[in-house]
Amino acid sequence: MEKLYAGIELGGTKIVCAFGYSGKIQEKVIFPTKEPNENLKEIIKFLKKEKIEAIGIASFGPLIIDPKDRSYGLITNSVKAHWTNFNIIEALKKELSSPLFLDTDVNAAAYGEYLFGSGKNLNTLVYWTVGTGIGSGIIISKEIYHGLVHGEMGHWLISRDKDDLFEGVCPIHKDCLEGLASGPSIMKRWNVKIATDLKEGHKGWDLESKYLSIAVINTILSFSPDRIIIGGGVMKNRSLFPKIRKLTSDFCNKFFQNDKFKDMENYIVPPLLGDDAGIIGAIALAQNGLRKKT
Ligand code: ADP
Ligand code: ZN
Repeated sequence: MEKLYAGIELGGTKIVCAFGYSGKIQEKVIFPTKEPNENLKEIIKFLKKEKIEAIGIASFGPLIIDPKDRSYGLITNSVKAHWTNFNIIEALKKELSSPLFLDTDVNAAAYGEYLFGSGKNLNTLVYWTVGTGIGSGIIISKEIYHGLVHGEMGHWLISRDKDDLFEGVCPIHKDCLEGLASGPSIMKRWNVKIATDLKEGHKGWDLESKYLSIAVINTILSFSPDRIIIGGGVMKNRSLFPKIRKLTSDFCNKFFQNDKFKDMENYIVPPLLGDDAGIIGAIALAQNGLRKKT
């Protein structure tokens, strides 16, 4: 019998909990995100069903993920109002005795893809998600990269397109990358109820690809990753991939010399694990976290 691990993925709209091991999900449940104490009851009830070795938590941020910090587990500045100043590690510790491992949702998704998806056998990769928010997770030399706190590349300050007069939707910075290119920015700029209502061929998709290619190009200039994975709801519009690849290829092939940049279909790719990247990554945080500790 394989040993069982648990994962919790905290998201702005939904919370995913699952049991699994080594890239496999045995059982999964989804709860809509509510007030933290309400969700906590649901999470704990689910987790108590099985005997588990450890729990991996993948959470929206910004949050304190350094286990040496006395506020380890604290969600510091969430746009999800109820969750600001909530300490997820403290709350779970009171109810569960399994070892806990925490990282950002996007780092966990990057880790899941690195171990079991589009990033298998690579050294360095960057995972972007473009949905309600924009975020990125970074694997450098086979490890999740954290630095002092953790990166928040979704809030990069990028140059606005000269024809774009939209003010941006980021509640903190207005016209950062997330403010100009997240799903809600498409909805507000073009006055549509959901981004899918923006017709194929609409100039909004060209603008979206321009902003996302700036993110991709700056990613390459900063990390020169082996591959870039882009997921999230907005990328379900498949006209974006070819446009982003073309703009990135034009830039890179005038500047660098490497065959990988001549094969953009294999360089800029969707996540192989799809919507499960985050939860599979969370389970892997638990499994590998425990292995490294013992
Ligand atoms: P979240 O970021 O909340 O986890 P998603 O990654 O699913 O959620 O992203 C949701 C966003 O994706 C919404 O803003 C929605 O308008 C947009 N979206 C969903 N489906 C599509 C699609 N087929 N094409 C473009 N945008 C989409
Ligand atoms: Zn921002």
